[in-house]
Amino acid sequence: MRLIMLGPPGAGKGTQAQRLVERYSIPQLSTGEMLRAAVANGTGIGRGAKAIMDRGEFVPDDVVSHMVSDRIDQEDCRRGFILDGFPRTVAQAEALTAMLDQKGVKLDAVIELKVNPATLIERMEKRVADTLAAGGTVRSDDNPDTFATRLDEYRQKTAPLLNYYRRRGELVEVDGMQGMDIVARDIASVLAKVDSN
Ligand code: AMP
Repeated sequence: MRLIMLGPPGAGKGTQAQRLVERYSIPQLSTGEMLRAAVANGTGIGRGAKAIMDRGEFVPDDVVSHMVSDRIDQEDCRRGFILDGFPRTVAQAEALTAMLDQKGVKLDAVIELKVNPATLIERMEKRVADTLAAGGTVRSDDNPDTFATRLDEYRQKTAPLLNYYRRRGELVEVDGMQGMDIVARDIASVLAKVDSN
C-alpha cells in the first residue's frame, strides 16, 4: 500500500498515518519529522533547514525530494509507505512521480483531509496548550505568526497539488472536520476499495 496524505498543517495527517502504520505494517514517512531530526542532529540538511522551518516556509524542493527518494529505497518501504507532508509543491509531486516510475512502483491513493482554516488554528492552539500542560516542548513553528505563514504556504504552493492528483484520477477527499475515529473509518473505506482492486 503506497499512499499520500495531503492536507493543511493540523489536518490530522500524522494522526491518521499512525493508524495506517499499524493496520498495514508500513512506515510513515513524514518529511517534517525527518527534517526536525536532521535539525536536532545538526546534519548539513538540518543546519540549512532550521531557519526556514522556524519561519514556517518550505525547505527547497530538491532537498526534500532527495531525502524521500533515499528513504523509499530502504528495506522497510518494500511493502509500501505513507507519505505525510510530502509532496508539498507541484515540483515535488513531479519529482515523486518520476522517482516512483524509475523505482517501478505505483501509488495506490492520494487522500486529502479537508479542514477549515479556523479549526486548524484552534487545533494548533490546543496542541500547544496540551503539550505545555504535560510539561513537553512545543515545536518552534507552532506559534500564531509562524502558523499563519505555514497556512499561507499551503494555500499558495500545496493547494495546486490537489488538481495535479485530481487530473490523474488519484485524489480522494475525506472530511477531516469529523472526529478522529470517523475520519479513520472513512479512510479505511477508501482503502478497502483500493485493496480490492
Ligand atoms: P510538518 O511537520 O509536515 O508540518 O513540517 C514542518 C516544516 O518542515 C514545514 O513547515 C516546512 O518548513 C518543512 N517541510 C516539511 N515537509 C516539507 C516539504 N515536503 N517541502 C518543504 N518543506 C517541508
